[in-house]
Amino acid sequence: MTTKHIAQVERENSRHWVGDGFPVRNMFSYDNLGAELSPFLLLDYAGPADFDPTTKSRGVGAHPHRGFETVTIVYQGDVTHRDNAGNAGTIGPGDVQWMTAAKGILHEEIHGPILKEQGGTLEMVQLWVNLPAQDKMSAPRYQDILNVNIPTVSFDHNAGTLRVIAGEFQNIRGPAKTFTPIELWDVRIHAGHDIDLQFKTGFTTAILVLSGKINVNDRSELQSAEFALFEREGDTVRLHAHDDTTLLVLHGEPIDEPIVGQGPFVMNTQEEIRQAATDFKAGLF
Ligand code: MN
Repeated sequence: MTTKHIAQVERENSRHWVGDGFPVRNMFSYDNLGAELSPFLLLDYAGPADFDPTTKSRGVGAHPHRGFETVTIVYQGDVTHRDNAGNAGTIGPGDVQWMTAAKGILHEEIHGPILKEQGGTLEMVQLWVNLPAQDKMSAPRYQDILNVNIPTVSFDHNAGTLRVIAGEFQNIRGPAKTFTPIELWDVRIHAGHDIDLQFKTGFTTAILVLSGKINVNDRSELQSAEFALFEREGDTVRLHAHDDTTLLVLHGEPIDEPIVGQGPFVMNTQEEIRQAATDFKAGLF
């Protein structure tokens, strides 16, 4: 076992609105960390934010995506999705929607009926996952992954829990189907406890703290809306929780291909981006 060290820490305190429903902090983007974070492209952390009841739809109206996947993880509140292929659904706390946009979808993302009609707190993460070039123009696909179908592993000594959304942990496999090897874990550590996490050398590894406060490898302190990107070398990370802490672990095999993106399209070349814009205007999505 060799310690996997932090390469850099990012923090984001400023929020911007996505549509009129999602006040997000952009924790990372392929604009500046494309190769380092591959296969992960972008992560927006929405909320926690309180909303009053309303009769209006709050969120993001119809918009396209091509060339990657969007993974929406709901912690508080509910989110409804609807697309041009007739797919629609609402996910709530603990649920995950893994949407493969691939060759193209048009969809809207709005507050769910509970948040809309009763008001309440919204907290969610949207993660963009890249596709290898050979899969960017494959058929769109939806995986609605409900809380009850995500296996939970308990750490020894009541130190906390780990939900396996994708990949595996201690031979427990998560339900998400992925195009490239990815682990996505929803981890809770109880105050005062330590856990050790094992990773594959050579994979991209990042940890986002949603709430609470931890020490990483007995040194760096991370709190809410801060994330650590780790060196590719090494295999073990030790986390100590000062408070009850919720964090999201991203681990994946890098896709060693060029990343060219614009708005809702992420492809490999400028020509493919122009084609995506042309196809969208021509109504081909
Ligand atoms: Mn979208």
